[in-house]
Amino acid sequence: MAPPTGAALIARALHELGIRVIFGLVGIPVVQIAEEAIALGIRFIAFRNEQAASYAATAYGYLTGKPGVCLVVGGPGVLHAMAGIGNSSGNAFPLLLLAGSSETHLVTKGAFQEMDAVSLLTPHTKIAIRSGLDSIPQSLTTAYRTSWYGRGGPSFVDLPADIIQGEGEETTAYIVPSPPKAGSDPEKIKLVIQLLKSAKAPLVIVGKGAAYAQAESVIRRLINQTKIPFLPTPMAKGVLPDSHTSNTASARSTALKGADVVLILGARLNWILHFGEEPKWNSGVKIIQVDISAEELGKNNGDPALGIIGDINVVTSQIINALEGWQYNTSSSEYVKALKESEAKNEAKAAQAAKVDKTPMTYARTFNVIKDTLHKLSPPEDGGIVYVSEGANTMDISRSVFLVEHPRLRLDAGTYATMGVGLGYAIAAHCAYNLPSPDAISGPKMSRKKIVCLEGDSAFGFSLAEVETMARYGMDVLIFVVNNGGVYHGDSEDSDEWLEMQQNTIKGKAQGGLRSSSLGWEVGYEKVAEMCGGKGFLVRTPEELAKATKEGFKASVPVVINVIIEAGQAQKLGFHGNNIIAPFPKHK
Ligand code: ADP
Repeated sequence: MAPPTGAALIARALHELGIRVIFGLVGIPVVQIAEEAIALGIRFIAFRNEQAASYAATAYGYLTGKPGVCLVVGGPGVLHAMAGIGNSSGNAFPLLLLAGSSETHLVTKGAFQEMDAVSLLTPHTKIAIRSGLDSIPQSLTTAYRTSWYGRGGPSFVDLPADIIQGEGEETTAYIVPSPPKAGSDPEKIKLVIQLLKSAKAPLVIVGKGAAYAQAESVIRRLINQTKIPFLPTPMAKGVLPDSHTSNTASARSTALKGADVVLILGARLNWILHFGEEPKWNSGVKIIQVDISAEELGKNNGDPALGIIGDINVVTSQIINALEGWQYNTSSSEYVKALKESEAKNEAKAAQAAKVDKTPMTYARTFNVIKDTLHKLSPPEDGGIVYVSEGANTMDISRSVFLVEHPRLRLDAGTYATMGVGLGYAIAAHCAYNLPSPDAISGPKMSRKKIVCLEGDSAFGFSLAEVETMARYGMDVLIFVVNNGGVYHGDSEDSDEWLEMQQNTIKGKAQGGLRSSSLGWEVGYEKVAEMCGGKGFLVRTPEELAKATKEGFKASVPVVINVIIEAGQAQKLGFHGNNIIAPFPKHK
């Protein structure tokens, strides 16, 4: 029998590591690896752009709690996939990136797609190595383990063409068991317990690290027992049900400002949590941060003396045991009273906004029509829908509208605020939840899930070719494009005015009024689905939207619902993409 090729050995090592899905885009010579992997029963999801493939692998890592794998060609393929390296690192999601490269004996001669990817990626990954023919299992196993153990992050293996095409000897990959879990020093737990018990206004913040750690049962126990109010970060929605009585999400500002002791489970004190600093936080607040990464403790306003290094599952369990049934007295708490008042006020405001009935629709109306329709088709308690949301305003405004009752059912632009992740994430979610013998754990009833994308028109544009990927693999993803004709708050409200401006630009008359945030007016995004066998809907009214949502939900092909909403509206509401940019003057 002929000795196995490097490609076959790579595929076998990946298979032995338990990898069942690879995201990527092939070319010479990595196509041989993909083909060998397919022959072993690994699913290769072939994308239209490495960027989306690399994003998908990061999301798959997050959803399954194990590294997601991405395979690309060298040179330009690696450069495109660097987007995923940044996304993995920024979000602490485990990613194993594999790439081809030119033959080792041709290095420096200007070989096909020649690039020194190891040097390029070393500063941006936990480990970046080049594999030899004899070290294939060892290289892959080490990179896989390194991306997974400790805080999740990216790792990279460079696979030169002569290794892929060479002939090697049969070897076995090492088994990589799940990462060991560390607990805390008992003295530290005692200190934490004292602080929590003496707090007048305690708060638990749950981050996406807790969702990634699949720590929902123990965190649910902690909150149910102690009755401490909690606040989920955007992707931690569902670790505790949104409908939980201790959820203070709709009184977020009051909760942060009023808290005197805060227990943080799996979140960083970065921009999402206003660095733990004034004016959003109370100046004297005591922050107890539980994190797997020692380097995280003491950052910004975190007190390293109160930080606990350890796994959330283990440490939270230690805290529960040490509390011995203690409960926060919510009935006599001024803090809880203030939270309830603020919740009632904010919820009334949101209910009012949801009722504004005009055409073109507002953001609030749009999301409420979608929510009411979807909730009837799949009640939130069943956990049958995964929401993927991106686009500054679409993401921000929709976040509080949709109820998420189970963990890992909401993905968004994340720590890096990366726009363009949506379609890759949707494909990853489909693979994690809907392939036979799914890898992801979710809630008590693991069932097939509908993947629903809420995309701003700008965010959708980053990777709309991936609708074809969805169609090719029979992924019945339901995509809403919330179309206001521009980045952030959208463009002119008057289509005649917009067309005139565009004509002027085409004729070379100045800039014609098109702003840097302008996108095409009422672009027919629904046609992207139609062109590859999916279904498209163009809707303008609540009735049309509800009907299309119903049909789209039941479809077995990808669906794009292009929802024309009121342009310029977020600007009026005071949303300016997290205040990153100043509002524009109206163009004339
Ligand atoms: P969010 O975006 O929700 O605020 P971040 O991504 O900023 O969350 O933070 C997640 C944190 O969770 C990271 O600092 C990461 O190190 C930490 N983390 C991940 N897994 C675990 C775990 N098993 N135990 C403890 N901390 C964890």
